[in-house]
Amino acid sequence: MRARDGFLEWTLRADPKVGLRHVGKCMICWESCVDTRSADKARDWCLKHVGATGHTGFQVSAFEFFDAILTDHPSVNGTPPT
Ligand SMILES: [Zn+2]
Repeated sequence: MRARDGFLEWTLRADPKVGLRHVGKCMICWESCVDTRSADKARDWCLKHVGATGHTGFQVSAFEFFDAILTDHPSVNGTPPT
């Protein structure tokens, strides 16, 4: 995704080492697990929370971290740094 801001053009770049993160959250007490790469681990946390609290309403959400970098940055356009 790119956007132009005045004379500068920016692009968003996800960090492939971090990847998509998942969080399980209780909709009763709003407690949530630490974000994890695995959706199954986030759901496992929800099941453990049911056992510990009896709470039965949950949400699993996914998110991704991005850096905004200038489009003419060497790591975006493939040209070696000068
Ligand atoms: Zn809860």
